[in-house]
Amino acid sequence: MHLILSSYESVVNGLTVDLEDWYHICGVEDYSDPLQWGSYENRIIKNTDKILDLFRSYNIKATFFVLGYIALKEPDLIKTIKDEGHEIATHGFYHRRVFEMTEREFEEDVGKSVSTISSITGSRVFGFRAPEWSIRKETPWALKILRKLGILYDSSMVPLTRMGSRDFPRYPCKFDTDYGEIWEFPLTTVRLFWERLPFTGGLPLRMFPYFYILSKIQRINWEGYPAIVYIHPWEFDMEQPHIDLPFSRKFMHYFNIKATPKKVEGLLRHLRFAPVSEVIRLHA
Ligand SMILES: [Zn+2]
Repeated sequence: MHLILSSYESVVNGLTVDLEDWYHICGVEDYSDPLQWGSYENRIIKNTDKILDLFRSYNIKATFFVLGYIALKEPDLIKTIKDEGHEIATHGFYHRRVFEMTEREFEEDVGKSVSTISSITGSRVFGFRAPEWSIRKETPWALKILRKLGILYDSSMVPLTRMGSRDFPRYPCKFDTDYGEIWEFPLTTVRLFWERLPFTGGLPLRMFPYFYILSKIQRINWEGYPAIVYIHPWEFDMEQPHIDLPFSRKFMHYFNIKATPKKVEGLLRHLRFAPVSEVIRLHA
């Protein structure tokens, strides 16, 4: 079932932050080993402060998909985010890609993040986003495990051949699992020639011209669907240490990083946003 909204003005988009530090990069030796993380400079607090300031100045609330590891290390930061009225959801505990875990490892990782986060906030955790949007057709158990852990919505599917699956939904919808229904809010994509492309976060947001991004989201809203925008604290940090990555990943991670804050601010000025749980509640 797709969301069909009544009018362009009523469409509220999902605003999301994947709360992780500059060294949380999947699949890179040295940086994907949690035992090494304690030796890296902590930049999460000052970078998150910049994002909170920005959201506060537009009086906009978002969903923060918090890494369990960060919650354990910086509980006061999580409390501050919650006290400002934002939704606290989970990004897993150790920032591991779903398709690199077994079903049991996934349950342990997400379960640990949920219990860590809820013990800090005193509230249930309803939302999940996989590191690197890594739910695949090869992980058909993922939504079932999430629902088993009390998660009511996931935002990890990419409806593209290379990153996810063309069979994944393009707009929010519900799935049935053995433990009940779960919502999926997939990555927003746009058709460009013969392929669909992401454009509302990460490298694509930094590469595409601002008015292209804005007009495409407005077009999606005009058709009655919400879009989802995602950012990371390290995209607000021009002085972060650069990790020695293979060329393609270095490009993906750091290219035009200075463009993120300005473009996000423009979107906050021109569009309506809310936390993901509210977008789903408004239109379910
Ligand atoms: Zn991440």
